[in-house]
Amino acid sequence: MIHKHKHDAPKAGNFVITLGYNHQNETDKKQSYKHQKKNNMTKRLLLISNSTNYGEEYLEYTKPHIKEFLGTAVKEVLFIPYAGVSISYDEYTAKVAAVFLKLGYNLKSVHHCDDPVAAVEEAEAIAVGGGNTFHLVHMMHETGVMDAIRKKAGTGTPYMGWSAGSNVACPSLKTTNDMPIIQPKSFETLGLVDFQINPHYSDAIIPNHNGETREDRIREFLIANPEMIVVGLKEGTMLRIEGEDIEYIGSKTIKVFRKDQPTLEFDKNASIDFLK
Ligand code: ASP
Repeated sequence: MIHKHKHDAPKAGNFVITLGYNHQNETDKKQSYKHQKKNNMTKRLLLISNSTNYGEEYLEYTKPHIKEFLGTAVKEVLFIPYAGVSISYDEYTAKVAAVFLKLGYNLKSVHHCDDPVAAVEEAEAIAVGGGNTFHLVHMMHETGVMDAIRKKAGTGTPYMGWSAGSNVACPSLKTTNDMPIIQPKSFETLGLVDFQINPHYSDAIIPNHNGETREDRIREFLIANPEMIVVGLKEGTMLRIEGEDIEYIGSKTIKVFRKDQPTLEFDKNASIDFLK
């Protein structure tokens, strides 16, 4: 079951301003987090930051959440392996199938289907794996599954993704961390949520390194895309969306970025309803 959260005060991180988010009244919140509302009534999404935590088995920390999300009604999951670049689709599918089988689900990969669009239309549930986001998006457009999954997940078929698979649930791929190794037809992705996710979000600063921090890169995105909200999803965390409910799962905090606004940080007791 998914629970609505109390408006407990989010914990402030070392350099994060919470701006008294929880002291705002509902009207203020609506005004400050204005974005278009879609028909979310039936959506079921599990958007996971990363497949594997440091030192753990593949997909280990996600297992109870996948099981709870897919439940017992789902028997077979359609896998989208197109983010795989340095691993073949067959190898990737076998790796993921081994995990899903232990959880009680058969995994069928879209690359084994003669008609990828029909496979999506018939799917009981869809899982999109991580890898290179540009490759994933290129292939999703090429095969036609981008539009098919948008329709299918938009009407209630459970959709889960990790890393690149979470990023593509957003309006565009523009908050990926990946290199543009291939040019997709469009940067537009599924738009199952209205905000952007930055997977594997990290505050890490490499000593003596002059490249941009992750926050710098997200702030650049916001200058070019001023209406957007970006959620920095740290490793080991995920968002679960059930119709109108949104739940944040994980022991770390999430960070929320908006143009010209201080970074907000939320723990799992704080309400993130403004993302709906
Ligand atoms: N390369 C990541 C993945 O595992 C995506 C990202 O870092 O943006 O899918």
